[in-house]
Amino acid sequence: MSPQADERRDGTDLKVLHIASECVPFIKTGGLADVVGALPRALARMGCEVRVVLPCYGSVNRDGSTRLPLALGVPMGPAEEWGAVLRRVDAGVETLFLEHDLFYDRPWPYGPPGGAFDDNLERFVFLSRGALQLCHATGWYPDIVHAHDWHAALACVYLNAVERATPLGKAAGVLTIHNIDYQGNFPADRMPLTGLGWDHFTFLELEFHGKVSLLKGGIVHATLLTTVSPTYAWEIQSQPLGRGLEGVMRERHDRLVGILNGIDYETWNPEHDPCLAASYSVETRASRSVCKEALQRRMGLAANPGTPLFGTVTRLSWQKGIDVLMEALPRMMELDVQVVVLGAGDPALEAKVDDLAKRWPGKACGCVGYNEELAHQIYAGSDFFLMPSRFEPGGLGQLYALRYGALPIVRATGGLVDTVRCYDEQKGQGTGFVFNDLTPGSLYDVVGWAAWAYYNRPSHIDAMRAEAMRERFTWEDSARRYLETYRRALRMRRG
Ligand code: ADP
Repeated sequence: MSPQADERRDGTDLKVLHIASECVPFIKTGGLADVVGALPRALARMGCEVRVVLPCYGSVNRDGSTRLPLALGVPMGPAEEWGAVLRRVDAGVETLFLEHDLFYDRPWPYGPPGGAFDDNLERFVFLSRGALQLCHATGWYPDIVHAHDWHAALACVYLNAVERATPLGKAAGVLTIHNIDYQGNFPADRMPLTGLGWDHFTFLELEFHGKVSLLKGGIVHATLLTTVSPTYAWEIQSQPLGRGLEGVMRERHDRLVGILNGIDYETWNPEHDPCLAASYSVETRASRSVCKEALQRRMGLAANPGTPLFGTVTRLSWQKGIDVLMEALPRMMELDVQVVVLGAGDPALEAKVDDLAKRWPGKACGCVGYNEELAHQIYAGSDFFLMPSRFEPGGLGQLYALRYGALPIVRATGGLVDTVRCYDEQKGQGTGFVFNDLTPGSLYDVVGWAAWAYYNRPSHIDAMRAEAMRERFTWEDSARRYLETYRRALRMRRG
């Protein structure tokens, strides 16, 4: 084996257990599912033995799964709940679904739109404790227990508080915070359900403003913590982005690592993308003009190749700053530019997006809904891609935009800072435009700057497009960083 191949397989001695509430292709509500879908496969390619434990929601396609010949008993406070386990193997990764129909056979993973199920504590105690019980039941003991977000965070607590003297006690706990806004806070009187004594309900552990906080418990107990970008790792150590947990994060800052997500460069490849009107690579990027014209026609915009087109594909939520974009639009529309918005979410924002074509016919158009094909066409047909996020732990939109040659215009927050290099007017370099203040005025200014460069420095824009398309944020690089983190966690755990 060549040294390079060796390096690619340097996880061969590691067993890793991922515990998560969602995972592509089985169930997805956000970026967490993309990470849990891709990272285990990348780790398996590097030689790790990887298992992923997920809840068996009603919507999970059970074709190709087999039922393990065991009944899984999971302590839930003073009682015990029993479930079954389904198993499937894809791309070297073993996925194990915990089946408990009373908990998981529902139309939504966390609750109806805008709400949460009353028994989410039970549901996710069952997941995190059940994943560890499954190790005992199968005699398979991981080196690393990698918990994702609050739903699985208790696993890191159990490793210290319950499993210390069992074979699982040697495993290091790694907790990834995908979004610290979601903390899994429950009324104090539910504490016994966790199976942890009241001695764990102090401000040093699970207590958080009088509630039981699963994420806080995980943060305190994990051997190491990761989050999805270096800048977000720094931002959550202070207000406002720490969302009340900034003090705990600061205390554990030496255990916190920011690791950027990768994207799938095969799926997201403008050279072979069936959604596009024309294929192109970095060398043939001039063919993007065909995609731009197709997008203009599809969205009812003037099919003018010389007008800069600003696109966005986004959840319509407060986090994404689309409300500010809507406020900035009347002034932006006085410029010679076009705007396309694809998004779904907040009904008030959806109504505004829906109205764009009526307000500025031929210049702006909105499409409400989730539309994968149109999303690809916007990445390929836009000159610029808008992401005015209030906060952005990692962000995928800007990575797809770079790949497709739409220069991202991003606010300086989280993963956007770590992945987009701002235009340097002197050198004609950069991969996008970065701005600081999330106000309609600042957004107007940065859009105006990009439009100015488009009209007056076309060679810069073309060079930036090439630079953007050549950027690489691969899962192989991310997985290598996670491997380093696992090794460090193991050294800390096992001395
Ligand atoms: P978040 O996970 O916070 O929503 P990201 O930028 O990390 O934001 O990922 C969003 C992903 O979802 C991107 O791939 C984007 O293309 C896709 N997406 C968001 N909204 C839509 C939509 N309405 N239609 C199609 N794809 C969408």
